[in-house]
Amino acid sequence: MKVIPEDVKMTPMLEQYSYWKERYPECLLFFRMGDFFEMFFRDAEEASRVLDITLTARDSEKKIPMAGVPCHAAENYLSRLVEAGYRVAVCDQVEEPDGKKLVDRRVIRVVTPGTYASSDGRSDGRLGALVPRGDLLAFALLVPCTGDFEAGVLPFREALALLRSFEPGDILCPASEEDHLATLLEPSLGRKLVPRDRGDFDPRRGEAYLARAFSVATLEGFGFSRGDPSLGCAAGALRYLEETQFSLPSHIRKLRPYQPRTFLYLDGTTRKNLELLQGEGETLFSVLNRCKNSMGRRTLREWILRPLRDDERIRERQDRVAYVAENPAFSQKAAALFGECQDVERALGRLSLGVGTPRDLGALRHTLEILPSLEELVKGTPLEEFFPEIPELRELGNLLFRGLERDLPGSWKPGGVVRSGFDEELDRYRAAQEDGEKWLREYLARERERTGIRTLKIGSNKVFGYYLEASRAGNQEVPPEYLRKQTLVSAERYITEELKQFEETLLASESLGEQRERTLYEELCSRTLEEAPRLQDLARGIAQADVLRSLGEVAWERKYVRPQLSSEDLLEVVRGRHPVVEVSLESRSFVPNDLVLSRGGRRIAIVTGPNMAGKSTYLRMGALLIILAHMGSFVPAESARIPLTDRIFTRIGARDELDRGNSTFMVEMVETANILHNLSSRSFVVLDEIGRGTSTYDGMSIAWAILEYLARSEHRARVLFATHYHELTKLGEEYPEIANLSMAVEETEEGIAFLHRVVPYPADRSYGIEVARLAGIPEAVLRRSRELLERFERDQSPEGLPGSSAPRIEAPAQKKLFPHAEGQALLDDLASLNPDGMTPLKALEMLYILKKRSLQVLEEQKNDT
Ligand code: ATP
Repeated sequence: MKVIPEDVKMTPMLEQYSYWKERYPECLLFFRMGDFFEMFFRDAEEASRVLDITLTARDSEKKIPMAGVPCHAAENYLSRLVEAGYRVAVCDQVEEPDGKKLVDRRVIRVVTPGTYASSDGRSDGRLGALVPRGDLLAFALLVPCTGDFEAGVLPFREALALLRSFEPGDILCPASEEDHLATLLEPSLGRKLVPRDRGDFDPRRGEAYLARAFSVATLEGFGFSRGDPSLGCAAGALRYLEETQFSLPSHIRKLRPYQPRTFLYLDGTTRKNLELLQGEGETLFSVLNRCKNSMGRRTLREWILRPLRDDERIRERQDRVAYVAENPAFSQKAAALFGECQDVERALGRLSLGVGTPRDLGALRHTLEILPSLEELVKGTPLEEFFPEIPELRELGNLLFRGLERDLPGSWKPGGVVRSGFDEELDRYRAAQEDGEKWLREYLARERERTGIRTLKIGSNKVFGYYLEASRAGNQEVPPEYLRKQTLVSAERYITEELKQFEETLLASESLGEQRERTLYEELCSRTLEEAPRLQDLARGIAQADVLRSLGEVAWERKYVRPQLSSEDLLEVVRGRHPVVEVSLESRSFVPNDLVLSRGGRRIAIVTGPNMAGKSTYLRMGALLIILAHMGSFVPAESARIPLTDRIFTRIGARDELDRGNSTFMVEMVETANILHNLSSRSFVVLDEIGRGTSTYDGMSIAWAILEYLARSEHRARVLFATHYHELTKLGEEYPEIANLSMAVEETEEGIAFLHRVVPYPADRSYGIEVARLAGIPEAVLRRSRELLERFERDQSPEGLPGSSAPRIEAPAQKKLFPHAEGQALLDDLASLNPDGMTPLKALEMLYILKKRSLQVLEEQKNDT
């Protein structure tokens, strides 16, 4: 790649720029020039667009576009670039400029989306590495800022799902596999793969490299067998981190084998569908989050995404939640102390990655300071074991307390970091600087006395340093040892040997003081890093205790109960509530509902009822209560027995992925296929409106067949199935596994009212037209709809519907059967559009699709009449 265009005149500085840019062609190059990091050529153009900074030019002919960011604000810009998916090589000045020769510069750090740890916690880099092995995929997942590191081998599809849910910023793979993996991963992750040398992933070499990095003889002690291919991935990831940080961070101390069996597995679709972390309004996270520090919030997210499957560990968590819920006064005191804890994990990570600041050290000191009060508070409570007394940490806390200033700067600044009184040598230099003022005053008085020149003054400037100044007014004689340096209109300036010596001592003490302070700061950093393992344990302890307290507070406030976890067949929730909808409803009260699914009896429930009656809420409630119970949280219900579950699958609502080339129906079927392929007897499945994305009879037949498959399947998963095809409820009569439930509605003079109550029988009809009336559809349309409905119901004998024994779907009738349903589906889809969230291109594409569909509906209506 040609870095410098032909027509640009080369200079030594450009030569140097080009040298480094050629070595990091895939990165934007931050090139340090004085107080700025400058970017040139294409880099400058891109950065000015992404960061919204001014694009200028270095030369008058404007052949060298340039854009820069001030060094003191570089972190902020780096974090924005990384969020936008860029990689940045930071090329710094590695010597002091002397104004004569070209200053030496080197790339000292490469910042990438997968490795960056911002100081404000906005971006948490995550790193994934992959190597396909036949039907399997070996992988490693590393979070550089916390040091969390795991590796394993899974069936291809599961590993990809896991990787998607991990959301890595960088995904490393052998260059030879790039094309193949890119088609599978890039569209869903929106990230480009990072191809690496195949040798980096070699398991044997990798194992030796990891053993060296962790100072162990073998990785077997961590639970890996020799030659495990995931060790190659782990080594590939760690090597990459070492390469981008230019050193191996010390806080990454171990590698865990990935254990899918220990967690209730939630794939990316389920996470999204259930709005666990992100949603339009409240989410499960926002409802549960009463955490008081960022370590707790991070851990709560982790617990939501990876609920446990080990009932003993779940019960341990429950005991602690119960203690908090029963002791509100304790909870309040703990909240105050947890709120004081700063992000130990991140501060430690940043110090280990070499990007830490005095403020990071201050964060650790602050947390260590309140540790004794925390230990005191939790003594004798179930939270005690999170805070064992550790003398080494107490010692470190004392050291940092004595060594560091109270308020610390966000970047290294001499004079503002190490406390006076901590180090004698530093104190001496500082005293010398303070004494300087006094010495100057005394010297001036002495010289005035000695020379008799009353107007004698002392000043300093950059050129001569300190000088004595005598005004010309009195035309007085100065002593011979006064060396004239400058003549002004009204005064003469002199220096003396004594003044020169003073200046040298002052400058020397300033620079020695700076050096000493830096050395002391670095010693404090390395002393802190020596305690990294203990600090990491402490961070984990604080984080878990914070989450458990948060769950306890929510349980107490919102009247949750402790669920009974069992390996039995029965799932039984009495008067359960949807944890998020109940909060969103504010003053209006939520109507609680029971949910019973027994693997020995009815384990599949078909839920019917009109739109807006509460079907989806009921289905999601089931899934969310299971997640809460597996997290160790209490649940919103009067009582609950929750069986240990391995996976929750969801297929909910209509979601277009036109930008990925998938139509609504395609998405629906892909998600359903995933469920049918992967479920087990311990799975919980939520299927909301299967078959809505295609024509009525196609959709109904598919839904029918899926229900039959689930009822007959040897995997006796628990299933909640909401549908508008109330014809499907016939299956409830045929299969003992299937129960029919519906959402009760009341028909009044004014129309229907939703009771939001689940009743143990099917809906007799779907009330679609009533809901259309509530939505404000014009009366003429409603009238016509009623007429048509009556006609369809008359024409269509029950035998004409598909039956389990002999499904009969009459193809020719298919087109004309429910034109109004097609029209309604079209209206539904139109209403659910979000024009603000579409690109102009997508909007246009959608317009064409809608037009085509409406023409079909009109055509069908015409044929019909
Ligand atoms: P559609 O078929 O149109 O998707 P639905 O039957 O799935 O509708 P939901 O989306 O679950 O209905 O519920 C509609 C609204 O009804 C919710 O947003 C909520 O405000 C309210 N609701 C649902 N269940 C309850 C309940 N148990 N108690 C009180 N309000 C409820």
